[in-house]
Parts: sequence; C-alpha cells; structure tokens
Amino acid sequence: MDHFLYRDGALHAEDVAIAALASDVSTPFYCYSTATLERHFTVFSDGLKPLDPLVCYAVKANSNLAVLATLARLGAGADVVSEGEFRRALAAGIPGEKIIFSGVGKTKDELAFALDNDVRQINVESEPELDALNDVAVSMGVRAPVSFRVNPDVDAKTHEKISTGKAENKFGIAYDDAPRIYARAAAMPGIEVVGIDMHIGSQLTDLEPFREAYTRMRALVERLEAEGIPVPRLDIGGGLGVPYERTNEMPPLPTDYGKVVQEVFAGWEDREFECEPGRLIAANAGILVSQVIYVKQSGDRRFLILDAAMNDLIRPALYDAYHDIVPVIEPAPGTPTYEYDVVGPICESGDTFAKARALPEMRAGDLVAFRSAGAYGAVMSSEYNTRPLAPEVIVRGDDFALARPRPTYDDMLGKDRIPDWLG
Ligand SMILES: *Cc1c(COP(=O)(O)O)cnc(C)c1O
Repeated sequence: MDHFLYRDGALHAEDVAIAALASDVSTPFYCYSTATLERHFTVFSDGLKPLDPLVCYAVKANSNLAVLATLARLGAGADVVSEGEFRRALAAGIPGEKIIFSGVGKTKDELAFALDNDVRQINVESEPELDALNDVAVSMGVRAPVSFRVNPDVDAKTHEKISTGKAENKFGIAYDDAPRIYARAAAMPGIEVVGIDMHIGSQLTDLEPFREAYTRMRALVERLEAEGIPVPRLDIGGGLGVPYERTNEMPPLPTDYGKVVQEVFAGWEDREFECEPGRLIAANAGILVSQVIYVKQSGDRRFLILDAAMNDLIRPALYDAYHDIVPVIEPAPGTPTYEYDVVGPICESGDTFAKARALPEMRAGDLVAFRSAGAYGAVMSSEYNTRPLAPEVIVRGDDFALARPRPTYDDMLGKDRIPDWLG
C-alpha cells in the first residue's frame, strides 16, 4: 500500500496535490512519501519480529539524504556498497555501528575509511579482498569485523541482470570453499569473523529460492560451528520483490517472507539477525512526475512524448521493467482509452517507457506519474543528453520539501574544464 492516491479527482502524495508540486518545482521530478517509507519499513520489520533483526536499508535503492534520514529516525541501519554511500549514511545520522559494507570490489582506501568509521561489519566477497582487508586492518592496528557473503548457488528466478546467487554470478565466495576460507580468516591477525551473509538477487517474486538459500546458510553455519568457528551473526540479505503491475500476480507479502525466515531459523531466535532490503522499502514510496510535450500520430502509432526520459528512469530501457503510468487528473469512470507508445526525447530508440499502453486521451501539457519509481530511479539517473537531473521532493502529510534541487545549466557546464592548450 502507498500514499499516492486520487483525491477529489487529482493525484496526491499524502495530502499534497501533485499538480501543485509540479507548478512549484516544474517537471520532471521525483516525489517521495514519508508515510509510505515508514509504513514499508515497519511492515517489513514486523514480519521478522521474533528474530528482531537490524534492518540495514540498502542505500543503493534510493540514497537521497532525506530518505536515509527518514529511515534513520525509525532505527534503520544501512547496507552500503561504496565509500560514497557510506558517507551518505553517516551524513543522514546512521552511525558506523549500524552500517554494513557490501560489494564485490571494495578498494583498500574504501576499506580503511570503513574501519576508521566503526563499520559494523564488512561483507567480504573473495579471498583477495580478505587479504587486502587483513593488510589494511593490521596497518591500522585494528581487527576488521567480517562476514562472508556466501554464494548459495540457488536460482532466484528473477531477471538475469539482478540475479546474484548462482555459482556463475560474480558475487560472494563459493559455498564449497566457505569452510576453508572461514578457517583461514579465523587465523588472520587483522580479521574478526562475525557472521555470514547471503543475497541472491533482487525483485524476487517467489519465496522458495529464499527458503533454499537460508536452509543452505543454516547448514553451513552448523558445519562451521562444529569445526570450532563461531558465526554469531546471520545477514539474510534483501531482494524481496514489490508489485509494479497492479493487475499482475502479487509478489509475496513481507509477512509471508517473514514466516519462511522464521521457519528456516526456528530455534535460532536468540542469534543476531540482519537484513538488507532496498526495493521493498523505497520502490512504491516514490513516483516520477512528467509532463506531455507532444502527442504525435505517426502512421497507426500514437506517441506520447514526455519531458522525462531514460536518463531520469532507466529501468524500462535496462531491464524491460514495467511501470504503471497514470494521469495526474483522475479519468472519470468509463473514459475511453487509447494505446500510446510512451517515450522520452532522447535520441535512442531505447528511450521508450512503454509500448501500446492504454491511457485516456492525453494532450500536450498534461501531467503523468510513473508509479513505483522510488527505488533504482533517481539513483540510476544521469545527465545524458545534458539533461539536468530531475529534482527530488519529499512529502510528509501536507508539508513538502525539496530534497534535491534541479541543477542549473551553469552547474552542469561548470563541472567540465577546457584544457589550457585550447585556451
Ligand atoms: C542491492 C542489494 C540489496 C538490496 O536489494 P533489493 O532488491 O533492493 O532489496 C541488498 N544487499 C546487497 C548486497 C545488494 O547488493
């Protein structure tokens, strides 16, 4: 459930009319709902209650400081994949003790930064990374808290570009290598083994891959502990899917996911659990609002040309992702619909948001909203075609704030330098 609803015939974010925001910040812009972020965080946490996990929000889904600070107030930790994200989490008030550092290619500088800032744990994904981390920690005179990301070799049954838990993926250490690597790590002077981690992919719509992965995780922990290596912390990753298409089969509810986790880890309630949801918290807490520039009839196709483009929201181009597109003015019941190809202005055929999408008759100047754009939306945007990044607005009740302004053209051009020899 989210808080983007029609009220008196007009789309609102909580108590704020989208059209009013559009005249304030102009289009395109992202809009986030505080109440929705809070609701998703709470529903997800409640589903796992008996295990009392530290919910470390995956910052890469939406790293705006306003979003992070909203979640920090609820007690969230953070899962970060770069020094930049680490700095964002700290700036939003999430202390290092609640920050997990993930990622397959952390540099020595990034590892040192994490250790310097009391990182909760570093999820190590390879032996070369383990060696590098040991070197860094020894040189700093500290021991690095380490969980290994173990690749359980299960098929997450999601889009191949966001599937991470098969043996052929680049992520994590191989399941069968884990006992040897854990034993090596336990003997290293700069390493303190604190846990185990699995993250098998994103937008999972089936609970069975989770059950399989967690069952393998439990078996591995039992084996490691039998060999004298305690593994106190269990990081069960993120990846639970969200509904993008309202007509489609719904992904499992967080409560059902919670049940699977509790079943697999029955009797282990006293252990320390962590999880890393991103999309589930942020996706349906954000929309992208855009204006129709032109409606173009070309042969038998009708194009809706918007002022938002693939540089603002790349998911359709990158993953063939579906986003609901709704008019900001609510269509009256029974309004006839027409099929539109909804596109942006960028010079790439890939700049297509939807083909043959049923919408009421649209005119230049009308506003539309892409739903479920709160995760992997603004964070993946770019200035391709020298288009300014869309601003981000966050709403709370009848209040709203600009969480990131649109850059000016001077800001954008001012980042480049013409070399002296061309002066
Ligand atoms: C991306 C990522 C997540 C979050 O995935 P969602 O599908 O957004 O929940 C969690 N953990 C790691 C290591 C990730 O890379």
